[in-house]
Amino acid sequence: MRLVLVTRLRNLTNELSEGCTGRIRKIGRPPLSDSMLFTKLKHFRLAVTFSLAGTLAFAAACAGGTDVPVGTGQPLVNSFVEESRPQQPAKPSENISIAAVGDIMMGSNFPDDSRMPPNDGRDLFSPVAGILKGADIAFGNLEGPLADGGVSEKCGTGRANCFAFRMPTRFAGYLKEVGFDVFSVANNHASDFGPAGRASTRLALEKAGIKFAGSDRGKYSTAYLTVGAKKIAFIGFATNPISLDVNNLVAARAAVKAADKVADIVVVSFHGGAEGSAAKRVPRSTELFFREKRGNLPLFSRTVIDAGADLVIGHGPHVLRAMEIYKDRLIAYSLGNFGTYGRFRLEGDTAETLVLTVDLGPEGEFMGGKIHPFRLEGWGVLTADETGSAVATIRRLSGLDFPDTAPEISENGTISN
Ligand SMILES: [Zn+2]
Repeated sequence: MRLVLVTRLRNLTNELSEGCTGRIRKIGRPPLSDSMLFTKLKHFRLAVTFSLAGTLAFAAACAGGTDVPVGTGQPLVNSFVEESRPQQPAKPSENISIAAVGDIMMGSNFPDDSRMPPNDGRDLFSPVAGILKGADIAFGNLEGPLADGGVSEKCGTGRANCFAFRMPTRFAGYLKEVGFDVFSVANNHASDFGPAGRASTRLALEKAGIKFAGSDRGKYSTAYLTVGAKKIAFIGFATNPISLDVNNLVAARAAVKAADKVADIVVVSFHGGAEGSAAKRVPRSTELFFREKRGNLPLFSRTVIDAGADLVIGHGPHVLRAMEIYKDRLIAYSLGNFGTYGRFRLEGDTAETLVLTVDLGPEGEFMGGKIHPFRLEGWGVLTADETGSAVATIRRLSGLDFPDTAPEISENGTISN
């Protein structure tokens, strides 16, 4: 019974934002829940949450509701969370620079060694080493476990068209060497070799001196790094049961607020959105991919910024997507593939890639940035792109999807507010 209820409630999570005509008032302290829905009682719309223990509680209420068509409630949600964005006292401080890339899969030794990268992957990313090392923090989405053995429940001993990735643990050393400091491991390949594969990934990264976010829910959802006197938090979200879920805005706000209490700057990474060349645009609704909910990403991104996040870095669609600025914070909706070696012939949209560098001010506000364009050749060899096609793509998509909030992007890739 509870399972049915929870499933039904999950399907309604998006109503969280949609349907209030009046100001939303909190009723008591909403419990951290895995489900939430809005329902109507006389003239009020009520947010009902179910706690993890299955008990029911009213979390919030607002006036009105039924005549608001689905999909037009976004500004109201913003007004709900706007008042709670923490005001931090201004402190004199220097900017923090962050370099970020999309999906990293350096080649897999599963089911056999035939798809391993040249020179064991040692120099796969050397073209970007200077950019990564030049930033205070270099971040990426590590799309697959680092493990030297184990069993893939997903693919058994390896069926054709079954994609389970496994990178040798020694690759962690190459990633450190090229300049990476922190990864999100919240993605749809993190569990390709089960819980043992996730544990092996954490251990390999730890040994290499790389932090990780987004593994095994609350336990490893957030990574903390220090730059000078500043503490920077990275939180990893995805759409699988082992990560914080982009579809659960209540839990997302709670995680960001918790990190914001102890960190000066909060960076949110999400793996979400539909995939492929047909998924370049950012819809203002929940995306579905093979019937899986992949998030209402503008709503998610604005909600986490309202809760205190300073930079939102998206990946997952395997193509580049738009950028926008919200409350002086940059949202990059998809950084595309970055180092996807060996399993896919990349071309056209899926071969365009980039390194994004961003400067954040004392409060985490966006001070400026740059798109460094690259291409993935053949099976995924990273090469500089003199034509700057990734810059042109992000410019075009940002103008199309966010005509009012897109950042200025010059032809050489410089991003400004
Ligand atoms: Zn993915």
